[in-house]
Amino acid sequence: MPLGAIDAGSQISSEAPTLHKTEDGAPGKPGPASKTLPPTGFATATAPPPLIQRAAGPSLFESADRIEGDTLERIRTDITPTCTRCKLHTARKQIVFGVGNPKAQLVFVGEGPGRDEDEQGEPFVGRAGKLLTQMVEAMSLKREDVYICNVVKCRPPENRLPEKDEITTCSPFLLRQLGVINPKVICCLGACSAQTLLETTQGISRFRGEWFDFRGAKLIATYHPAYLLRNPAAKGEVWKDLQKVMAYLGLQPKRR
Ligand code: URA
Repeated sequence: MPLGAIDAGSQISSEAPTLHKTEDGAPGKPGPASKTLPPTGFATATAPPPLIQRAAGPSLFESADRIEGDTLERIRTDITPTCTRCKLHTARKQIVFGVGNPKAQLVFVGEGPGRDEDEQGEPFVGRAGKLLTQMVEAMSLKREDVYICNVVKCRPPENRLPEKDEITTCSPFLLRQLGVINPKVICCLGACSAQTLLETTQGISRFRGEWFDFRGAKLIATYHPAYLLRNPAAKGEVWKDLQKVMAYLGLQPKRR
């Protein structure tokens, strides 16, 4: 079985309703960005609770139109290697932009670089990254087939979570990356990227494994590989999420 020894579930936390979930919980045509729908397998007639609530305040992405002729190289150049837009610049060694197939059908979005990534300039190269590579390979893909990036491009000190102002400053670049790559599926790794792209403060355990529409792509959130290193029992849940992605992309599990 892929993903090593995989078993049962896990939990995280938090609150609130309303967002672009795909009708019947399965991937299909992009739907309106605000439809409230039941979770997968929810036996319908009694109206189910809405799944996700957008955080209050202006949308981070409202004015984020696609830039005509945008490219990954242009985004990298716009960031600049000496970016000082947020306070993360003071402790980082280098910008960790993203890596992989610029035409990938599948993009993984993590939170922010850690120590190894800051050293090497590439996302997900440390322990969590090795697990992500195994996850990708279990999907019968290679790391080079997918694109891997983060919400913030600079390492938060002491591996703390990126803060709101840092996310707000850096996420337009993520949005541009996603716009250029134009993947079929965006897989958010962990609460930070899921909450950022879905603009919610709800806990990831409330909506992981569900499909959402995101600017013409399908978005699914699963637990972060670093969380799996601490909670291997959650690997089974993640594998279920990845199998949904595989089914959507027409991928067969890797033969052993
Ligand atoms: N964790 C992340 O979220 N991103 C990385 O690049 C590495 C670890």
